[in-house]
Amino acid sequence: MIIADFHTHTHHSSDSVASMPSMVQKAIALGLQKICFTDHMDYDYPKSSSLTFVFDTEEYFKELDHMKEQYKGKIEILRGIELGLQPHVADKCNRLLDNYNFDFIIGSSHLALKKDPYNPGYWENKTTEQGIFDYFEGIIKNVAAFNRFQVYGHIDYIIRYIPDKSYVFTYQKYADIIDEVIRTILSAGRGIEVNTSGYKYGLGQTHPSADILKRYKELGGELITVGSDGHRPEHLAYDFDVAEQLLVSLGYKYYATFKDQKPEFHKLG
Ligand SMILES: [Zn+2]
Ligand SMILES: [Zn+2]
Repeated sequence: MIIADFHTHTHHSSDSVASMPSMVQKAIALGLQKICFTDHMDYDYPKSSSLTFVFDTEEYFKELDHMKEQYKGKIEILRGIELGLQPHVADKCNRLLDNYNFDFIIGSSHLALKKDPYNPGYWENKTTEQGIFDYFEGIIKNVAAFNRFQVYGHIDYIIRYIPDKSYVFTYQKYADIIDEVIRTILSAGRGIEVNTSGYKYGLGQTHPSADILKRYKELGGELITVGSDGHRPEHLAYDFDVAEQLLVSLGYKYYATFKDQKPEFHKLG
């Protein structure tokens, strides 16, 4: 059993209304030993949206400290963040991390070329192939500008939002750029996360997909974390048993959790 969910959101994220106690209580009921909150911090998110994806760090740490105290001995609560990366916000991200001690940092791409692929505007005047390529290229540029994260989040997130629903995405079609993404993350000494939200969205896969996880391992990748990306209590540890079976079948032996940004490894299977 995977004993920790290392990608979860609460009301501190613009797209969640979940209270911290409701998430913690569900995690305890599921038998988890650790939960890491990783609320959204996306600096310079496009202003056209009503969502800001920026939280008040003081408030966040205050509530986290209170939760840690309240649930001491029942579950370990870790202070994480999902940092939405773009090359031009690297300085701001550095300042944040200089001032606050997070246990765990996920670096994620929610935007490419300053646009959100969730919105139709991202895909205007470009082919599906170009839209996908731009996203992967964006990850490479983000890591070059900033690498103070432990894992890169959902590296094939773009495939959720391909407007042409008949389009079949495969690792093989984008092998060169995906390999470059993986090599860039590995050369920075970082890992990737295995995000189970694809099961929840009915995509029938983790992010990244099995083919990409296989390739990551072939290229020397070992460091993985596992997270549901849950925005509600019922999403916690979503299909973790399915993900665990997949990881074991691909030859993975361990997944990591983090405290003070240092890894601890746990056996799979
Ligand atoms: Zn994300
Ligand atoms: Zn997330």
